[in-house]
Amino acid sequence: MDMDKLVSLCKRRGIIFPSSEIYGGLNGFWDYGPLGVELKRNIKDAWWRDNITLRDDMVGIDCSIIMNPKVWEASGHVGGFSDPMVDCRETKERYRADQLHVFRYDLAAISEGRVQIFAVALTGGTVDDARGSLSDRMTNLSRKGHLPIKLKDLPEPEVVEFLSVPVADRDGIVGPSATKPGTLTEPRNFNLMFESHAGAIADEANKVYLRPETAQGIFVNFKNVVDTGRVKIPFGIGQIGKSFRNEINPRNFIFRSREFEQMEIEFFCRPDEAAEWYAYWRKTRFQWYIDHGIKSDKLRLRDHDPDELAFYSTATADIEYEFPFGVSELEGIAHRGDYDLGQHQKFSGKDLTYFDEEKKERYLPHVIEPSAGADRATLAFLCEAYQEDEVGGETRTVLKFHPRLAPIKAAVFPLVKRDGMPEMAEKLYRDLKKHFNVFQDEKGAIGRRYRRQDEAGTPFGITIDGQSITDGTVTFRDRDSCRQWRVPSANAVQALRDLLEGQAVPGGESEGQA
Ligand code: ATP
Repeated sequence: MDMDKLVSLCKRRGIIFPSSEIYGGLNGFWDYGPLGVELKRNIKDAWWRDNITLRDDMVGIDCSIIMNPKVWEASGHVGGFSDPMVDCRETKERYRADQLHVFRYDLAAISEGRVQIFAVALTGGTVDDARGSLSDRMTNLSRKGHLPIKLKDLPEPEVVEFLSVPVADRDGIVGPSATKPGTLTEPRNFNLMFESHAGAIADEANKVYLRPETAQGIFVNFKNVVDTGRVKIPFGIGQIGKSFRNEINPRNFIFRSREFEQMEIEFFCRPDEAAEWYAYWRKTRFQWYIDHGIKSDKLRLRDHDPDELAFYSTATADIEYEFPFGVSELEGIAHRGDYDLGQHQKFSGKDLTYFDEEKKERYLPHVIEPSAGADRATLAFLCEAYQEDEVGGETRTVLKFHPRLAPIKAAVFPLVKRDGMPEMAEKLYRDLKKHFNVFQDEKGAIGRRYRRQDEAGTPFGITIDGQSITDGTVTFRDRDSCRQWRVPSANAVQALRDLLEGQAVPGGESEGQA
């Protein structure tokens, strides 16, 4: 699937728009249109219901976006939440230094010492991404006469990370879009938190930050919840909300933006049970994506290597998805030990230990953190659902969403605008609308109306035709198989509910009535 097609479908069908588009947009910000807002809400609602409502050991919370700035000192975000950033003086582009890969050609043997090293930097999440664009890049440089020797005479390059190239050699690197070497600046650290001021005076004392994650709001409320919530360890607190990061290089549509929504859980447990809970959440969260339709092998669960772990974490796993632009993180599940509560205890001077009534002991709970992004989940569900297939000799675009996530659950179509069909459709539509987000469409040929709903990911179509008027049955159509079967109109609400909840299979029981 090609990303451009998905982006244009999202625009065309009102799923996702560039933010403030009539003013030219704003890099790293996106708006969800009428269909997109339903999709994302369904994802968040499914997450909330499965992780909070249906469980006895979870409660929810909703914290403010702007908090006391000490929170971010304790969490380490003020000191450490930064990316090393490199600017290109020639093209004015900006890169994350840790995402630059340098392809280094040793030309000593060929050019008799005239040019020792020639290197190009390429940007990409992985070496393979960068390698993929290497030959285009070299062809381009060659065509414009910017290579020190002929393309075909270049030896095999050695790939190294930008940050590992000795500073003295960095002048020999040609930036990812530059034409000559030596235009990349030295990396500078750049804090990712957006700053503002609370109050009338814009000075240091009033400086505040937009939260870069929802997790810290949970930690600082741990004591409040324990004191008021009748919760007992092991238990967790979940939160869904906006987070903000001034990403250096927002890209890949809604995958990396500067304003996004997170769905985070902090699960508090006894230190000696933490490893078990970590294994539990790692498995449970992975299964959640499968249960909601990501059934392909594009979904992966990757355990971090010991050298990738944050110093306080004993284990972390990423749930990854193979997006059209590469395999990238959807959610991280981290065993964080007692690091966060320990930091807040230290910085606030408040006792955050927990008294375990059963074991009669006091301790600082350990924490398992499954941290997901609602927008990245939305993008993965969109990528997975997007298909082009053949129906009746015609190619159609269809979004095969899980019924629970589909923005519109069913569309009602009177076959023609006469003979009582529109009236019957209107009545059915009103009945259904009390229970589900449904849509009514009377315009155009029925085939075209089906296609439009296929593109919106609507799982079922319900058509009212001549027979409906005489025998009171309507035709259900299944988006994925395009099968059709008749159902008494009076049973339509229940029939749709059974289908959406997976209690009935499309065309199943009532087939043969047609
Ligand atoms: P990355 O390495 O991709 O920047 P991260 O490891 O910093 O991500 P976390 O801090 O673990 O991400 O955040 C948890 C989740 O929040 C991520 O798995 C992702 O789903 C979401 N998220 C983080 N940054 C962004 C962003 N800029 N845009 C959209 N979602 C994001």
